Amino acid sequence: MKISKRIYIGLLVASLAMIALIFFGVYNLVRFQEYPLFRTITIGLASLFLCGFVLVAAGIAALVLTILREKNSPTFEGCMRMATTFLFPIAVNLGKLFGIDRERVWASFIEVNNYLVRTRRNLAVKGRLVILAPHCLQESNCPVKITTDINNCRRCGKCDICGLLELADKYGVTLRVATGGTLARKIIGETRPQGVVAIACERDLSLGIQDANHLPVMGVLNQRPYGPCQDTRVDLSRVEEALMTMLGGG
Ligand code: SF4
Repeated sequence: MKISKRIYIGLLVASLAMIALIFFGVYNLVRFQEYPLFRTITIGLASLFLCGFVLVAAGIAALVLTILREKNSPTFEGCMRMATTFLFPIAVNLGKLFGIDRERVWASFIEVNNYLVRTRRNLAVKGRLVILAPHCLQESNCPVKITTDINNCRRCGKCDICGLLELADKYGVTLRVATGGTLARKIIGETRPQGVVAIACERDLSLGIQDANHLPVMGVLNQRPYGPCQDTRVDLSRVEEALMTMLGGG
């Protein structure tokens, strides 16, 4: 299913407009207070809000321009990150209000993130790139423990871990399997990568991308033919595409 970047960007703009409306409503209610101290505090808070608002609005504008021009704007990277991170929870909830499924908003956010990563080239060098896969990709009856050592996998081909190992060998990158966010963070801390290709569901990927902060992460959604967290699959061609992008060849 093709998810449009427009969903998330539209919700960012709507979130910003909603915050501005609420703020000016509250500001108008309190600005005519008689007490000078109260007025000074209100004006001080309003000025702070205005600074934050301008930065976030600049971030959204830079995001739209980056997508239109297909070129990254390094000067505005901080603003773009601030806009997407700060407004993310508001955008998801606003989406719900408009009847947009949360998974679609998360998927759209991942599309926007991947696009931004794609506009940057030569992000990672071999050996400094990690493929982070979820444990649910492993065939549920497989007896080997791959979270501690991926080389325990016998490459029997019953699940996509085998294909991911082949991709990791082909591109000289590290493959690790995580059972959750805590282990994923530990792996990032241990391997200190320059980039990550992360495979997960919409929710985990969105949270992981935000968690990674400055680290570029290309997200690849898993497929759930048996429902969430069981015998999931991944489109290996999409993982390969993400690897090539990260290594500057895509
Ligand atoms: S490829 Fe085979 S051995 Fe490896 S994790 Fe999957 S089921 Fe287990």
